[in-house]
Amino acid sequence: MGNEKRIKLVIIISLLLIETFVWTTYGSGNFWSLGLTGGTDEPSANIDGADEPIPGIDREEEDKPEDESLPDRNTEENDGQAGEEGDSPEEIADRELAIQEAAEKGLLILVNKQHPIDQAYKPDDLVKIKYFVSDRSETTRYMRAEAAEAFHRMVDKAAEENLELKMTTAYRSYAFQKILFDNYVAKEGEEAANKYSARPGESEHQTGLAVDVSSPSVDYQLSNDYDKMEEGKWLADHAHQFGFIIRFPKGKSEITGYQYEPWHIRYVGLAAAKEMYEQELTLEEFLQIKGIE
Ligand SMILES: [Zn+2]
Repeated sequence: MGNEKRIKLVIIISLLLIETFVWTTYGSGNFWSLGLTGGTDEPSANIDGADEPIPGIDREEEDKPEDESLPDRNTEENDGQAGEEGDSPEEIADRELAIQEAAEKGLLILVNKQHPIDQAYKPDDLVKIKYFVSDRSETTRYMRAEAAEAFHRMVDKAAEENLELKMTTAYRSYAFQKILFDNYVAKEGEEAANKYSARPGESEHQTGLAVDVSSPSVDYQLSNDYDKMEEGKWLADHAHQFGFIIRFPKGKSEITGYQYEPWHIRYVGLAAAKEMYEQELTLEEFLQIKGIE
C-alpha cells in the first residue's frame, strides 16, 4: 500500500505539473491573442497589421502612381497653357521687342486701299531674288534684303521636301503698278480692276516686302487652287516660320479689302508672323491690337 500511495502521489504531482504547464501556456496564449501586451504581440500584430494594411499599402501604391501621374498631367497642362499663352514672360518680352524692331525697320508697314503709300516711295535695300519664273517681268525680281534672304531660305527648305516654289512678282514700282492697273481697266473695266488689282500706291508690292508665289502644279499661274496643291499647302503651313504671312486670307476680305489670295505672301518678320499665324490675324487686325500705326 505504501507503494500504491507513493505511486498515486507521483501521479497527482505529475498531473498538477502538467495542468500547471498547460494552464500557463494556454493562459499566455490568451493574453497574446487579446493583444494586451503590445511589445510581445509584435509578430502577430505585424502579420495582422500587414494583412490589413497590405490592401491599404496597395491602395497607397495605386494612389501613388496616380499622385505621380497627377503632377505629370499638371506639367502637361502647364506646358499646354504656356504654349497657348505664348511662353514665359521673358519670351513674351523678347517677342514684343522683336515686333517693335520690325516696326522700326518698316517691316510692318500697312499698305491697302485706306492706307496708300507715297508715290515716291522706293525701298533703298532692294536685292535680286534668285528663284523666279523666267517669263515674268524682270523689273519685279526684287525684295528688301531681309525679306529676300528669308524668301530664299524658305524656297530652299521647300526644295528639301521636293516642292518647287518660285516668285512670279515681288517689288513693283508705283509706275509699274499704274501700268498694270490701267491695263486691267482697259480689259475688264474699272469695277473688276478695283476688285482684283490694286491702284497705284495701294499695292504692298511697292514695299518690296510682298511676293507672289507659284509652282509647277498650277503651271506657275496665280491660282485659287494653289491651296489644294502640295506646294500651296506647304506655303500656308510654313511661311510664318520664315517671317511671312498669307496676306489676304480666306474669309477676311472685309478687313483686307481683297479676295483670298493663297499665292500672295508678305514679309513681316518672324515674331509678328508667328503671332499672326497662331492667332489667325490679318496685318490690319494685328497692327490694331499692337497699337502700331
Ligand atoms: Zn501679290
